[in-house]
Amino acid sequence: MSNELSSAANEPLAKGPANYTPLSPMSFLRRSAQVYPDKTAIIHGNRRESYADFFARSRRLASALAGQGIGKGDTVAVMAPNIPEMLECHFGIPVLGAILNAINIRLDAATVAFILEHGGAKVFIADRQYAPIVRDALEQMANPPIVIDINDPQAKGGGVIGDLEYETFIAAGDPEHPWQGPADEWESIALNYTSGTTGNPKGVVYHHRGAYLNAIGNAMTFGVNAESRYLWTLPMFHCNGWTYTWGVTAVGGTHVCLRDVDPALIFPMIAEHGVTHMCGAPVVLTALIHAPDSVKQRFEHKVEVATGGAAPPSAVIEQMEAMGFRVTHLYGMTECFGPSTVCAWQPKWGELPLDTRAAKMARQGVEYMTLEAQDIIDPDTMTPVPADGQTIGELMLRGNTVMKGYLKNPSATDEAFRGGWLHTGDLAVKHPDGYIEIKDRAKDIIISGGENISSLEIEEVLYKHPDIMEAAVVAAPHERWGETPCAFVTPIAEVGDLTAEKVIAYCRDNLAHFKCPTRIVFGPLPKTSTGKVQKFALRDTARGTS
Ligand code: AMP
Repeated sequence: MSNELSSAANEPLAKGPANYTPLSPMSFLRRSAQVYPDKTAIIHGNRRESYADFFARSRRLASALAGQGIGKGDTVAVMAPNIPEMLECHFGIPVLGAILNAINIRLDAATVAFILEHGGAKVFIADRQYAPIVRDALEQMANPPIVIDINDPQAKGGGVIGDLEYETFIAAGDPEHPWQGPADEWESIALNYTSGTTGNPKGVVYHHRGAYLNAIGNAMTFGVNAESRYLWTLPMFHCNGWTYTWGVTAVGGTHVCLRDVDPALIFPMIAEHGVTHMCGAPVVLTALIHAPDSVKQRFEHKVEVATGGAAPPSAVIEQMEAMGFRVTHLYGMTECFGPSTVCAWQPKWGELPLDTRAAKMARQGVEYMTLEAQDIIDPDTMTPVPADGQTIGELMLRGNTVMKGYLKNPSATDEAFRGGWLHTGDLAVKHPDGYIEIKDRAKDIIISGGENISSLEIEEVLYKHPDIMEAAVVAAPHERWGETPCAFVTPIAEVGDLTAEKVIAYCRDNLAHFKCPTRIVFGPLPKTSTGKVQKFALRDTARGTS
């Protein structure tokens, strides 16, 4: 008996098309088009694309690109906001074996030129709104790619860029173009550049397998299904919209496009389209919380919001829940296809008071079902830290939803994968229940008199102040202590009498004194387009260099 079992286990008789297909999100669109041909796949203003349309247009795109010589291993860059064409690119490009390089729409021309050169883009599909930046970037290149313009009626300004226009281009393509996933699931599907706050950005390469798995993991984790209406408040260029571009398509949900993340658009769109799900960095949540009352609406249904990309202070979670949204907290990074970690809800938390519940939900949590493992590890010894909620180590991840590596950068890849784990660079603790909590980026931790101070811990307290809208804390040099916390604070608009003394006194009432900021700077916080506060810029100010 045992022999039979072991031989069955060890000698699969036939690995072939009947029992093995390389995993790829390309199969999602084909299936949804078969199952839900007439269902609305995409809403954009007055425009509606059914799943049959979405599939046919993606096939036309693939066919037209093939006509330009695009095929396996070629890079096609796209610079577009959250519009139907961007979704089509997520399928029509990789189905050719080509690699989708979605470029951050807020980058400057020099960085766009760097990415196009480094990624080796042969074709560049760009929304006309970005014409000035795109033209400038192309002028900086020795061998510029073929440019295809997207002429979206909702674009503001810009102008014609290249010789080809997207609609005309795909109209010439075949709506029956063959639809075939990759021969090997390890083939590259996308190239996403990190934000690169210092030096040049790094090109993170994704494989079809990880994109498939993380799309499924995201849909399941966030409860997205065929009834869902997903509002695009998260940029599709950021980790391919955290893989929801593929994930919402997999379940046959409806994509609701949005060019500009503006609360004055978001609230009415939720009502008009019955939006059930949306994602965004905590800054998006803050914008909704502090939107004028004339804009705010309450909804009869629960709107699910997943937040991540930066730590959401518990006060932000609390205020969103009080507004009738349900918040899911996700953590991730470009290197792991967006979200890898979720603060999985425990039913017993439902009985807790809102503030205690929000504090639990502000922790980053546990690994996705599609990630093999995560742990908090001492990077010097590579041993896990105890689950005591105190000992700080580095969050490390491993599994099938970790990148292939950095493009043309083997030393950075080796460094990132040292010891068989992806090193995230985030410092965290592990609680006795196994949930992890991030304390800081390694480079953001403040070391004062030899003690580690978590900037997030101070920010968490500042966000609870009734007159504070946003806050960020960085290290400022200090003669005696080496470093001391310096807080940058944006008061709520209507509040006029918040002073540095009041903020410091409030911190001293709520934090150990050595952790209290000694300097307060009032004003708006500089942020990246993916919702991260630009702490390097604040550090320069704190150091007095700008
Ligand atoms: P990016 O690669 O641009 O998506 O940035 C990834 C980084 O964002 C992570 O390494 C973290 O520092 C930060 N981050 C993402 N999600 C969270 C979260 N939920 N809490 C704290 N930091 C986060």
